[in-house]
Amino acid sequence: MKVLQERIRQEGLILSETVLKVDSFLNHQVDTQLALAIGQEFARIFAGRPITKVLTVEASGIQFAMAAGIALNVPFIYAKKKKAVTLAEDVYSAEVHSFTRQETYRISISRKYLGPEDRVLIVDDFLATGAALVGLTDIVAEAGAELVGVGCVIEKSFQEGRGLLEQRGVEVHALARIAEMAPGFVRFVEENAVHAE
Ligand code: 5GP
Repeated sequence: MKVLQERIRQEGLILSETVLKVDSFLNHQVDTQLALAIGQEFARIFAGRPITKVLTVEASGIQFAMAAGIALNVPFIYAKKKKAVTLAEDVYSAEVHSFTRQETYRISISRKYLGPEDRVLIVDDFLATGAALVGLTDIVAEAGAELVGVGCVIEKSFQEGRGLLEQRGVEVHALARIAEMAPGFVRFVEENAVHAE
């Protein structure tokens, strides 16, 4: 998605070879028109596949899952990171280890909202180590639902997330795939190196 690559070049803050900040337009302040366009792009990629639910994890996947849900005309569900007050039997849950935050947490969703009749598109902001998305695929499997695919906004292709998901037979689509980066520099997959501002 060209417009997304341009925004990353112009506004992305590359803090190190592994951490990209996109707080000005994607996951703190959100460019709402861009978020809607991202949802439409996911709907275009997965057109013709009868998706019934979009699934993400709070907090920074929510705006893109909502945009995809609007474009596909289906509900979206976000997994919660805080332990729900409801009984353990009422939720599907999975463990996620965050390498960025160096902590392990459980994500959960109510059993009421996902079941064997569902065909699910998982959406998230970043695909890095893949831990969060693998946790969501575990939840889809536990629900007996069908996983149609994963759509992520930015993939850091030099990290292991895509490989991990593809090993599990998951179809992965990313709208901007970063091959390598460093402060002041970003190169997207299948592109020549371009220097950022
Ligand atoms: P994972 O390592 O499980 O693929 O990524 C988990 C979450 O960490 C992502 O959904 C995203 O919210 C956050 N994350 C991972 N890498 C980055 C990064 O480079 N920049 C930002 N802003 N968030 C990231």
